[in-house]
Amino acid sequence: MTATTETQRRLRTEIPGPASRALQQRRAAVVAAGVSSVLPVYVTSAEGGLLTDADGNVLIDFGSGIAVTNVGHAAPAVVDRVREQAGRFTHTCFMVTPYEGYVEVCEALDKLTPGTHEKRSVLFNSGAEAVENAVKIARAATGRQAVVVFDHAYHGRTNLTMALTAKSIPYKHGFGPFAPEVYRVPGSYPYRDGLSGPEAARIAIDRIEKQIGGDQVAAVVLEPVQGEGGFIEPAPGFLSALSRWCTENGVVFVADEVQTGFCRTGEWFASTHEDVVPDLIATAKGIAGGLPLAAVTGRAELLDAVGPGGLGGTYGGNPIACAAALGSIEIMRQENLAASAKRIENTVLPRLRALAEVTGVIGDVRGRGAMLAAEFVKPGTTEPDADLTKRVAQACHQAGVVVLTCGTYGNVVRLLPPLSLSTELLEEGLSVLEHAVRTEAAK
Ligand SMILES: *Cc1c(COP(=O)(O)O)cnc(C)c1O
Repeated sequence: MTATTETQRRLRTEIPGPASRALQQRRAAVVAAGVSSVLPVYVTSAEGGLLTDADGNVLIDFGSGIAVTNVGHAAPAVVDRVREQAGRFTHTCFMVTPYEGYVEVCEALDKLTPGTHEKRSVLFNSGAEAVENAVKIARAATGRQAVVVFDHAYHGRTNLTMALTAKSIPYKHGFGPFAPEVYRVPGSYPYRDGLSGPEAARIAIDRIEKQIGGDQVAAVVLEPVQGEGGFIEPAPGFLSALSRWCTENGVVFVADEVQTGFCRTGEWFASTHEDVVPDLIATAKGIAGGLPLAAVTGRAELLDAVGPGGLGGTYGGNPIACAAALGSIEIMRQENLAASAKRIENTVLPRLRALAEVTGVIGDVRGRGAMLAAEFVKPGTTEPDADLTKRVAQACHQAGVVVLTCGTYGNVVRLLPPLSLSTELLEEGLSVLEHAVRTEAAK
């Protein structure tokens, strides 16, 4: 087994090349069409912020596997711990015979998540599973059933989390019936609603009080910065007003930090930007350097309201995934990746803003840390331009830079580079993006 030692972007063939296209053909015969790929180059190795494909092309990764490899691909502290753990044991099931790694991860979550209150954690395999369990815990602890979610929200693909998610195609379309007692209210989308945070919160709270009743609500579930919905940062004061209302009404405030967590936004958790202390926090993605792991962390009295056996799962907190998480957290601490995320923000935002200025096709530039976005619109309007967004992403892909799109209107290019990405690769990837926007906008 050889690790790559690539240090720069390099195109040997067209993208995707012949080897990837051959694999794509094999795939079409056996893999369900419902699983799609943004960029069908088949990866053979990856290191830091670079992906090497089956044709020997080396691509700059501005996606991190959707905000997962925050510490970079094949980070030594992750790889070493995973190898070591795999050699000792791979599974016992924590619910049968436990092991230290699970406890260590919960100890780390206790220290790293916002708030100094007594906390407990429980581990799962995916973000959706964590969010779904946060709702279970909130319902058990409050004896109430209603769950409040927001426009543009994304919380996963299981039955309950589909109900929590806003967008129909592709996430929900044809998959009903959905779980009951889920209520959607307007969020805060400053570019499109023009409201201050307190104003937007007032509208949401009014809707909750009039249409559900505060005393019926078990949980308010929200992303501190919305991810799939368009990298939407709520206006300042929105999160804190909702958090305060939850406290006053005995409602569990659940922060879905699956995408924003683990230094992604320049803090360990995005709730911190507004000094919000969630009652429960759902984490996954960036937690374990690519291994499947997720958690719910929160107030001890809420977590402990669920009786023995009420929470768990065969694989939840798998020992190899826990080892990977401990390696990732060690890197985040030692290399101060929260500061690296801020460095990325300081490099990217001015360049995106300048690009918006000269091209006129970007209506809004936003984001925090290494979770940054450009929203594409028809010049002089706020009308979403999904077609241009798609062309820009494709042009980046052709040039060997992996960018992702998102947004309810499909008109947002989002950047999620590994937090450890070198400034050189970051600048190079941005130059590719700028060229793509200029070229496509002129068409
Ligand atoms: C990705 C994501 C999820 C779902 O996580 P999975 O691991 O894909 O189940 C939930 N919430 C948010 C905010 C996400 O970005």
